[in-house]
Amino acid sequence: MATASADLENFMNGVKRRNPGESEFHQAVQEVAATILPYIADKPAYKESMILERMSEPDRVVSFRVTWQDDAGNVRVNRGYRVQFNNSIGPYKGGIRFHPSVTLSVLKFLGFEQTFKNSLTQLPMGGGKGGADFNPKGKSDREIMRFCQSFMTELVRYVGPDVDVPAGDIGVGGREIGFMFGQYKRLTNRFNGVLTGKGREYGGSLLRPEATGYGAVYMLEDMLHTRGDAIEGKKAVISGSGNVATHAAEKIIHRGGTVLTLSDSGGYIYDKNGITLERLQWIKDLKEKRRGRISEYADEFGAEFHEGRPWNVPCDVAMPCATQNEIDGSEAEMLIKNGCMAVSEGANMPTVIDGINKYLQARILYAPSKAANAGGVATSGLEMSQNAAHISWKEEELSKLLRDIMSNIHAACVEYGAEGGGYVDYMKGANIAGFRKVADAMLAFGVV
Ligand code: NDP
Repeated sequence: MATASADLENFMNGVKRRNPGESEFHQAVQEVAATILPYIADKPAYKESMILERMSEPDRVVSFRVTWQDDAGNVRVNRGYRVQFNNSIGPYKGGIRFHPSVTLSVLKFLGFEQTFKNSLTQLPMGGGKGGADFNPKGKSDREIMRFCQSFMTELVRYVGPDVDVPAGDIGVGGREIGFMFGQYKRLTNRFNGVLTGKGREYGGSLLRPEATGYGAVYMLEDMLHTRGDAIEGKKAVISGSGNVATHAAEKIIHRGGTVLTLSDSGGYIYDKNGITLERLQWIKDLKEKRRGRISEYADEFGAEFHEGRPWNVPCDVAMPCATQNEIDGSEAEMLIKNGCMAVSEGANMPTVIDGINKYLQARILYAPSKAANAGGVATSGLEMSQNAAHISWKEEELSKLLRDIMSNIHAACVEYGAEGGGYVDYMKGANIAGFRKVADAMLAFGVV
């Protein structure tokens, strides 16, 4: 045990030295290294080829200026990025995030995680991530369009259907993907699957908007089944009110659960009676069409609104679906103390390492983001296949494929994460299952 922690410390010292100040990236690598280093300790092929060290270094990072003009005619400047992390098992694949908190550290953590997540789906996709420190809040449609066009004018040099296929993420939904695809098409005179999350009229896949949130609920469902339990009758606390959160809430309600909370960066709403499907549709319209704040729900329906995060609300299951590091150690403790039996992460890395340790110590069911939210990128992979073959699959087919992919990810976590007494460490299972495929491909390529 002492050796394992010394190995981890040595490894992390190297990562920190090479990537100074990038705390989110360090955190993501540490989460993985803590389970992979013991796994490869008796596997010299991986150790001698320095596979984990190589997987912790992106293939390529590009950063570029994005210049655009606001409605008042002022010239504005932002910084755009694309991190092409690893293309050992397929073209780089991962979302684009527009948020003022975007830094290279955040995108490197997301690209690193994406490599493992995409491998878990069993589809041929490498890992990447991109974005800009642009704040879409309060911007007009025209301003968003000009920003997206300028962003794509640079990004076009680095992407392509067999090279790198971005998708949406925080601040990038159907509207932004439409503007970027339009600019790509105009610049290249090509119509292809360079982006996923496209509108249905121009090559988008059915079920892509729903896939991440639905998939995270399927993972929750599969975990509960291992204990002979189900979602029906469970009280759920969910954070966020964007794409992932609203679709997770929808599927929880479909399965007979009760959704007590949703949130945004202003605070959370607590509806004691449970958010109904009609009210959820009202929230989707509020967010997508009116670009409003979640606090308006409290005024409209007489629910409670509180500043901060919802983790002190007693619940059976919790689904963080907003952003990274939104559950700290004491919040994880609070969830457990209040009786939470399962956490399924819709957002990427929403729980800090201290919080994850609390889940593991309490032996509650815990699905880490790279497994729980992989349904989104899996459906993006299916969108790529449809585009390449110039076909479109029906909703029932996609729905079944998504459900099967999530079950397979659950099974892979159980295979590599099973511990004594029927307990499954899903974090360990997801890391090892995701690692193996990429690592074996890298071994096959030799020293490159
Ligand atoms: P959206 O932009 O649709 O929604 C994000 C939501 O989270 C909003 O309610 C937003 O509130 C809230 N939020 C964002 N940043 C913060 C913050 N710093 N503090 C509090 N609340 C915040 O994004 P998505 O739903 O697409 O993404 C949510 C998470 O899911 C992210 O971690 C993303 O990486 C992950 N994910 C998304 C996938 C997808 O398919 N979209 C796929 C896999 C993972 P506000 O409006 O106030 O900013």
